[in-house]
Amino acid sequence: MHEARTSDESSGRVWAEVPRARGRSRLARDGATATRRRVRRSARAVEDGTEEGGLCCTACGRHITHAAQACSVAGAHDHRFTNPHGIGYRVSCFATAPGVRTVGPETDEHTWFPGYRWTVAVCAGCGGHLGWRFRSSEAGFYGLITPRLGPCGDGP
Ligand SMILES: [Zn+2]
Repeated sequence: MHEARTSDESSGRVWAEVPRARGRSRLARDGATATRRRVRRSARAVEDGTEEGGLCCTACGRHITHAAQACSVAGAHDHRFTNPHGIGYRVSCFATAPGVRTVGPETDEHTWFPGYRWTVAVCAGCGGHLGWRFRSSEAGFYGLITPRLGPCGDGP
């Protein structure tokens, strides 16, 4: 009996505390949910390129590279070049560009970076020309046409 009364008393206390307990547990649960949601969103963001700094093809929205991959070649990240046909390009240099594929042969003809051979690089999503991959015997990088890349998530 004594144990039963103690049990009643304790459940009485539990009931009295329910609103506060519930409030705390809801807060804790919301906190955990928010954390899980953030983690899921950032994993998905990396996948589809919508994480901050992601750079996408302006034609199709395909994730091409990331601002963190920006590199400096011959003393600069951004360059301006004119090809033998008189077409001017603004080119930004990136260490990697997982969203492009190279097409055609590698050549050093009219190369903009002495010592580097180049291959045309196109968007792996839509096939649009995005720039060039440059390779020397020691190093490589991608020179991408600046206005053909934009922040991811803006849509094509
Ligand atoms: Zn594209």
